[in-house]
Amino acid sequence: MNTEKKVSIVAPFHNEGENVNLFYQAINQATQHIGGVTFEVVCVDDGSSDDTLQKLIEIAQTDPRYIVVELSRNFGKEAALTAGIDMATGDAVIPIDADLQDPPELIVDLISEWAKGFEVVLARRIDRSSDTYLKRKTAKLFYQFHNRVSSVKIPENVGDFRLMDRVVVDALQRLPEKQRFMKGLFAWVGFKTTTLDYVRHPRLAGKTNFSGWKLWNFALEGITSFSSTPLKLWTYIGGIGACASLIYAIYIVVRTLIHGIDVPGYASLLVAILFIGSLQLISVGMLGEYIGRMYMESKNRPVYIVRRKYNLADQGTTAVIADKDRA
Ligand code: UDP
Ligand code: MG
Repeated sequence: MNTEKKVSIVAPFHNEGENVNLFYQAINQATQHIGGVTFEVVCVDDGSSDDTLQKLIEIAQTDPRYIVVELSRNFGKEAALTAGIDMATGDAVIPIDADLQDPPELIVDLISEWAKGFEVVLARRIDRSSDTYLKRKTAKLFYQFHNRVSSVKIPENVGDFRLMDRVVVDALQRLPEKQRFMKGLFAWVGFKTTTLDYVRHPRLAGKTNFSGWKLWNFALEGITSFSSTPLKLWTYIGGIGACASLIYAIYIVVRTLIHGIDVPGYASLLVAILFIGSLQLISVGMLGEYIGRMYMESKNRPVYIVRRKYNLADQGTTAVIADKDRA
């Protein structure tokens, strides 16, 4: 690269107090020997209730490469990531987890693939042994199901850790949806893509922010954001049910004509009613998932709200930091 390019590293932080300094050191170490590019690190504090923000501000006060974005409350990882990507000014953007599960050592390789002309460089986990068996299995099921019902295929075992050229980021920002399932949006925009493999480490400190229930909702979000198959499925289930009922009805009529009226059949009747009833409830619930999302979208609320931005280069906000420190 002839002119010096800028790369933005974007990290969302939610209660990562124990990881802030480790993150800082790891990023320093990983980036110090990369020539030809300058770095900017956008750290988004996603409504942490511990000392994450304080620690991040301390870094931003000494290191001009750091920009700290404080959100007004916890908006969730997808929103925090969106905020960070919006703030990033680099020619390429690399989202990375603050808990160092995405190895910063890989940044150098991401950048060299980018230099070859790729617009998206994906980092794929080849070994998920740091995740529990259940998480691996359910993740696999999710990818399989999602990619079967949706026309946008999400690459398996690829998280948010990747490099995106400015053109990709610009495209991403043109997508207007408020419910941001980033993996899906990343895949939707396309572009010239290559993949690097890496081994995912266990979390350095602290604990995961994603419980089973949160992950389930995340999966629902992903599927409903990119596919309307679950919605249309009910037409076919209903059709099959109707055909089966018709055949059964003919059978009953014929049997009654031959053998006369037979009263018993209470059990089969009840089973049929309960079964059809629950199918209807499921399909109404499915509708609810989509209508709920349409409702949220139609409110058109911002994805996140920034409370304050901290950066050494920005004199105005430095004064604000000093004020905050004295208080
Ligand atoms: N995160 C966030 N807001 C949230 C939850 C998580 O910004 O509401 C951040 C978190 O600090 C971390 C990243 O998202 O940097 C991934 O979260 P976590 O490690 O808990 O997820 P896991 O790796 O277990 O899937
Ligand atoms: Mg993690």
